[in-house]
Amino acid sequence: MRLPRQDCYDRIEPLLARVEKPSRYLDHEWGAVERQDGPFHVCMMYPDVYEVGQPNMGIAILYNNLNAAEGISCERGFLPWVDMAALMREEGVPLLSLETSSPVASFDVVGFTLAHEMACTNIVEALDLAGIAIRAEDRDEDDPIVIVGGPSVWNCEPVSPMFDAVLLGDGEEAVVEMCECVRAGRAAGESRRQILLDLSRVQGVYVPSLYEVVVDETSTRWGYARPIEGTGVPDVVLKRSLQDFAGTDPLPQKIVPYVGIVQDRLAIEVLRGCARGCRFCQAGMTYRPVRERPAEAVVEAKRGLVATGHDEVSLTSLSTTDHSECARILHQLNADVRGTGVRVSIPSQRLDSFGVEMAAEVGGAKKGGLTFAPEAGSQRLRDVINKNVTDENIDLAARNAFENGWRRMKLYFMMGLPTETDDDIVAINEVADRVLEIGRDVVGKGPKSGVSVSISVAVFVPKAHTPFQWSGQLGLEEVRRRQQLLLHTCPDHAIKISYHDAEVSLIEAVLSKMGRAGFDLILEAWRRGCKFDAWTDQFSFERWCEAARALGLDLEEIASAPIPLDVRLPWDHTSPGVSKGFLQREWRRAAEGVTTPDCTMESCTGCGVCPTLGVENRIAGDRHVGHE
Ligand code: SF4
Repeated sequence: MRLPRQDCYDRIEPLLARVEKPSRYLDHEWGAVERQDGPFHVCMMYPDVYEVGQPNMGIAILYNNLNAAEGISCERGFLPWVDMAALMREEGVPLLSLETSSPVASFDVVGFTLAHEMACTNIVEALDLAGIAIRAEDRDEDDPIVIVGGPSVWNCEPVSPMFDAVLLGDGEEAVVEMCECVRAGRAAGESRRQILLDLSRVQGVYVPSLYEVVVDETSTRWGYARPIEGTGVPDVVLKRSLQDFAGTDPLPQKIVPYVGIVQDRLAIEVLRGCARGCRFCQAGMTYRPVRERPAEAVVEAKRGLVATGHDEVSLTSLSTTDHSECARILHQLNADVRGTGVRVSIPSQRLDSFGVEMAAEVGGAKKGGLTFAPEAGSQRLRDVINKNVTDENIDLAARNAFENGWRRMKLYFMMGLPTETDDDIVAINEVADRVLEIGRDVVGKGPKSGVSVSISVAVFVPKAHTPFQWSGQLGLEEVRRRQQLLLHTCPDHAIKISYHDAEVSLIEAVLSKMGRAGFDLILEAWRRGCKFDAWTDQFSFERWCEAARALGLDLEEIASAPIPLDVRLPWDHTSPGVSKGFLQREWRRAAEGVTTPDCTMESCTGCGVCPTLGVENRIAGDRHVGHE
């Protein structure tokens, strides 16, 4: 039932003294949009606590764009931490928005960002706390329209029963259009079903209730989705792609939080999309084409430092050092902030594009740790995954970094990649050892040199819409054996090895592979207490296993099952524009160890996104771009 819109701050205030970090629940931060008079009200929810959700760039962009639209007001919502959620249930306080402390269930539209699979139980928790029916099919006519978007909607079937509509791709323009569509439908007195039909005509929008799941001999055991007869919806919903990325606001984050947040820095998105073509990488396939922000716009955006008081500028993207004007941007930004104590950072560095200038320019005077992601130890396996990084690239990047003052090097790898053997595991240690030796050669030996190398190893998760989507995940027992192999063959105690939790990766793989039936598992896991699954201290593998057992599912069997190349997949009805034929070709090339070049450096490799969506790579400076 739709709750009335009213300020309920007086109901949450008495609880603040009884919870950890009460500032998570305070509104009126500097830069927040105070005027919230609608008449159409949207709540953008990030399904985690404030300090994790507030830095999210997507939420900031949509918040600004919706508040700029005539007649639309947009507030933010976050999930209360477990202490506050328990008190709210005890006191009968529903989930509230931040700006006006209004019940989330009183909004016209409630939008969620799905940043990763492990947030799925938090969405159930948020809907339950809000008093909104968890399944879209159980909602009343005037209940909020609940929508979702974000990087992890590319196999949205397991979460789709919770949503009235799913946005695929860039949200800047599409979310405003979706809200306008709902607003017009409400104003015209349309039924909920008619509004959903209207939404399905907005490009990039998938309405799950208008598709039925079919399981037959052409599909996996999870079936595929097809349009329900008479709905007129497309067989395949194509994503939305924003061509004029360069024209967007480079500084969407205008709010200064009261509480320390996870990425407490001025973030500037310098480019969107990546055409490197790593075969495991979902973002690399789903965010194409590549669109760069010109250097002038990035450098000019540093004015945000004055507005927010941050002491760090972070140049964010999937692969920042690939920006055709990256060295120029770094040089200019550093010149502008010299002497102010502000540092310029990049989240992680491509090994083949991290040159001498960048090694000198990143991090300011005080160099901390530097992160590189070779992903695989051997050249053979790097060719299989299309990493297009050589041993020489790694050695040169490490030497550049050490010579320019860096001392701590973190290297990211994956375990369980298709075709991986024990030799590839041992090769991870060989890379780390070489980097360590380069550091000692440049800086000198001994504990005072400060040189350290750490390697972090995650378990490969096969993701939808990637060339590796047909692969199975490595079983837990084999993961543990390979982890031991890595430990025992580590040549030097100065190399520190850490692992990403393999059990979390297993749940990620299960949710990445299942179809709509996966929602039963999510719901059962939540009923057994699963939430905040991305938090190490909250994740309970045992509860997920119990939920699976109750439903007669074997999690390991689901995650490790390879998929035949020619069957229909649970996500085939949604498309980022990259064709299935291209992914199949890339899967075969992977098996042969043949690499595919980056289309922004050489010519078009035929992924299909440009002709399908009528878009193109937009490079600010000098890369060699070609098209079909
Ligand atoms: S269609 Fe060609 S140019 Fe466009 S992103 Fe794909 S490979 Fe690159």
